[in-house]
Amino acid sequence: MASHAIRIVHGKRIISDLSLRSGPYVKRDYSWMDKAACKGMGTDLFFPACGEPTRKGKLICRTCQVKEQCRQEALSDPSIRGIWGGTSEEERRNTRVH
Ligand code: SF4
Repeated sequence: MASHAIRIVHGKRIISDLSLRSGPYVKRDYSWMDKAACKGMGTDLFFPACGEPTRKGKLICRTCQVKEQCRQEALSDPSIRGIWGGTSEEERRNTRVH
């Protein structure tokens, strides 16, 4: 099955490279990202290396007015990496399981 790489830019930072299987294309609305507290910030805080603390990125998320949209977006796609909506990949994985 063919795949397409899509790079999403969160504010001005790259937040994810997604590989999508070919199939019906679903147009997503990312306009909420214009209001992101992380807009224009670097990627380091939101993509900590394995084992690195996630606290600083999550603190920024606490102040974000689009936190819930961000969290839901990340929960909807297990391929999304990094901190989204104040959650880490592991936290989202646990939420999907329960
Ligand atoms: S919740 Fe966090 S990662 Fe999501 S847009 Fe807001 S600041 Fe950025």
